[in-house]
Parts: sequence; structure tokens; C-alpha cells
Amino acid sequence: MTVDFVFPANPVVSVDIAHSEQRFPVNRIFCVGRNYLAHAIEMGSTVDKSNMEPFYFLKDNSALVASGTSIAYPPKTSNYHYEMELVVAIGSAGFNVAENAADDIVFGYACGLDMTRRDLQQKGKDGGKPWDLGKNFEQSAVISSIVPKSEVGIVTEGAIELRVNGETKQSSDVNMMIWNVREVIAHLSQFYHLQPGDLIYTGTPEGVGPVVPGDKIEGSIEKLGSIELAIQ
Ligand code: MN
Repeated sequence: MTVDFVFPANPVVSVDIAHSEQRFPVNRIFCVGRNYLAHAIEMGSTVDKSNMEPFYFLKDNSALVASGTSIAYPPKTSNYHYEMELVVAIGSAGFNVAENAADDIVFGYACGLDMTRRDLQQKGKDGGKPWDLGKNFEQSAVISSIVPKSEVGIVTEGAIELRVNGETKQSSDVNMMIWNVREVIAHLSQFYHLQPGDLIYTGTPEGVGPVVPGDKIEGSIEKLGSIELAIQ
């Protein structure tokens, strides 16, 4: 039976899967804040894992953009930043997942850009207000093809890099995360029933910075390929 919607419903948002005709349908987009110490410090804070827990913000799945796209400089910002991140794609449901079972619910991994209106995020922080205007806006979640775990294995380390116009801006290793992928899944799944189709942007290393119209961003994660974005 077809549903008689009052206007056309949005299509299912999906992401390309490497070496596959199938696509990955996207449910929610979770993002981890401050998950590399050197980035936390460059943002003017610090993280002590012994007495702190990870924290999160979310982006709408309608904010997703495929790698290789050219997008407009967003409105209401004059400090638009890149953040290169490992993205974990969840392939099966999980609630209160144990760390040693976390890899089981992972479908695969991708390169991601958590594009950020840093000035609006800072305004939110300063006023004790939400981060949504700085983080959850149109075309703010860029993603490459998802590489299935069946192809690449469990990703726990590997170089993560980002270049703007060919100049290296971020260079780290995903093993520098404060809370690794297993710990993030175990923690996040205490608060949410993780579902197939959920994406987790796992945080960015140090070296974030602004881009302007005409810039070309290119990032890569060892074994997961690359991601590209052009700013108009
Ligand atoms: Mn981020």
C-alpha cells in the first residue's frame, strides 16, 4: 500500500560502499567531541580520561555530502573549518555493547569531514548554548565510500591526514584517539540503542583550520582511501 504523503517524502540518505553495487542507508550521525588530546588543547581545553567521559553531538543525515562534491561556502560564518575524521559505520543493532563485542556491530569504515562553523560553535560554547548552528548544518558531514570490515579488517591504527590545496594541515594516527572505537561504541551504546545505518564520526586530530572559497580539501586514512571536497 502506498502512503499518501501531503508532499513528497525525503528519499533515503545513503552512502557508497567500496567495490559494491549496494549502498549503505544512513540512520543517525553521531559525532565525538575532543577525542584527540592535541586537538582538545588547540581548542583551549584538555581531556583527562581518568575523570572524564566522552561527549557527543549529532548531525542530521540530510547534512551528508559525498566525497568529490563541490559545495558553497555556508551562510552566517566567517570561520569555516575542516575536521578530518575516521567514520565508523554501524551494521547491526547494539545496546550496552561490551568493549570486546564492539567490533561485531561495525559494518565498515570511511573517511569523513566534520565541517564546522567555528565562530558559531564558539559563540555557543561561550554562552553555554548548544552547538547545533556550528555543527549541524547543510552539507556539513562529508563522507567517502565505506570500506567494509570484511575487506579491511578491524581498524585500530593508521595514518590520518588532511591537506588544503596540497599543503598538509593535519597529520596523526587514529591510534591517538583518547577513546578508541571500541570504547566509543561501548559508551555511546549505554545512551542509545545503536541501529544499522548509524554513523559515528570519531573526532579530529590537531591542525584544524579555516578554508575559503576556491580551496580544495583532500584527506586520507591508511587502508581506507581518500576524501575530497571543493569549496566554491
Ligand atoms: Mn569533529
